[in-house]
Amino acid sequence: MRECRTIADVRVCVREARRALRRIGCVPTMGALHEGHISLMQEARRSCDFVVATIFVNPTQFAPNEDFSRYPRDEAGDLAICRDQGVDAVFLPSVDEMYAAGAKTFIHVRELTDTLCGPFRPGHFDGVCTVVAKLFNIIQPDSAFFGEKDAQQLAIIRRMVADLDIPVAIVGCPTVREPDGLALSSRNRYLSPEERIAARCLHRSLLLARKRIMAGETRAGQLVNEMFEIVHESGATAIDYISIVDPHSLQVIEHIVRPVLVALAVRFGQTRLIDNMTISPPPAGRPA
Ligand code: AMP
Repeated sequence: MRECRTIADVRVCVREARRALRRIGCVPTMGALHEGHISLMQEARRSCDFVVATIFVNPTQFAPNEDFSRYPRDEAGDLAICRDQGVDAVFLPSVDEMYAAGAKTFIHVRELTDTLCGPFRPGHFDGVCTVVAKLFNIIQPDSAFFGEKDAQQLAIIRRMVADLDIPVAIVGCPTVREPDGLALSSRNRYLSPEERIAARCLHRSLLLARKRIMAGETRAGQLVNEMFEIVHESGATAIDYISIVDPHSLQVIEHIVRPVLVALAVRFGQTRLIDNMTISPPPAGRPA
């Protein structure tokens, strides 16, 4: 496995693979790798011949009050996981390598960034889009793999790639969960034992929404209220949002007659967790 710390290094490495007509797959991550990241690597391994994982805790996607400096970092552990997964090259640039002094350009995707997490994390998606576009320009992969766990991020990246004619296929991969339903996240390790138990409420509330929609409930407002109750009772510190939106436009919908994205963001102490589920109503609103 090649470890590349500079843009020049990773470009050479990928150029060699491309010359050998290998299909390049890219898995962007912020490290502290877990089974969720591993599932993306495995999907990349299945459909590509040369897999590049990137590990970069991107400062531009953290607001000043967020957890950039304490975000978990474990380079040795991450490299071991990449090696185990048969990753061909890992790109681990420093912040200075990725952001030249005086950089003035960033990418802003309109509207899709105004809903869900957008208002609670100003500038976050601009940071994500800018770093992902840079990674695409540096690596020029044929495909890139992202988790459905970050559904808004996935929708925004799909939009960006379409709008900017970036020649990369975006592949969404299902959310990997703990046995009790909690979506794996590098931030789960911040939770106290009590918060870890309380955090089950995210998935529980999504399961309730799915059950109610499958049983014919079409009133989004009613479902959001019921989900609020579950999350509130769990002892969560704060609920940023619980929303039912169109999976593509991310606009709030009131009447569930097509597949919807049910998404929520909840805080436990300092830790902010997100989760979501795409749910299709039964045909013609009839109970399944
Ligand atoms: P992160 O390191 O948190 O920026 O995540 C890197 C990639 O892994 C993103 O595309 C995430 O959506 C994806 N990811 C994170 N957690 C999970 C999970 N539990 N299941 C599937 N993909 C995930």
